[in-house]
Amino acid sequence: MYRLLCPNLAVDSLFEIDLDSLADQGIRGVIFDLDNTIIPWDSREMDAAIVAWLEDVLARGFKVAIVSNNWRGRVREIAARFGLPFFSRAYKPAKTGFRKALAELKLEPGETAVIGDQLFTDVLGGNRMGLLTIWVKPLTAHEFIGTRIHRRFERLAVRMLRARGLMK
Ligand SMILES: [Mg+2]
Repeated sequence: MYRLLCPNLAVDSLFEIDLDSLADQGIRGVIFDLDNTIIPWDSREMDAAIVAWLEDVLARGFKVAIVSNNWRGRVREIAARFGLPFFSRAYKPAKTGFRKALAELKLEPGETAVIGDQLFTDVLGGNRMGLLTIWVKPLTAHEFIGTRIHRRFERLAVRMLRARGLMK
């Protein structure tokens, strides 16, 4: 059970992710979470540095999709800026949204990474699917009330993972 909550990689920011290393590991596609991963939860504005970083990901030839639990309108708006396929109201950690994204990108789980800020949705769902899971610190502490409750359990899970030596 705990292993399903353990990300393959944990980083403080997207910029720490070594894209060359991902490619070397056979990763050809990336599924992004939206809120607090590429855009603050309470904002409509993306950070210019993140926009540039995402453009670099695309320029390197990675196939990219967005899988979000948020509503269609918001997800579509951000996805449209980059011309990305998106899957909203995905109910992560359910597999459905990830499955749809893999089908759209024509990728297998083993050649796809998921990048997200929540253990109980992005990492748990990604691990269930057999994706490479990358956990990134949330962009802002401002969060949906339900997410704030999740965070308490997330901190507990991290303590348990660390106690078991599963996470640094
Ligand atoms: Mg998120």
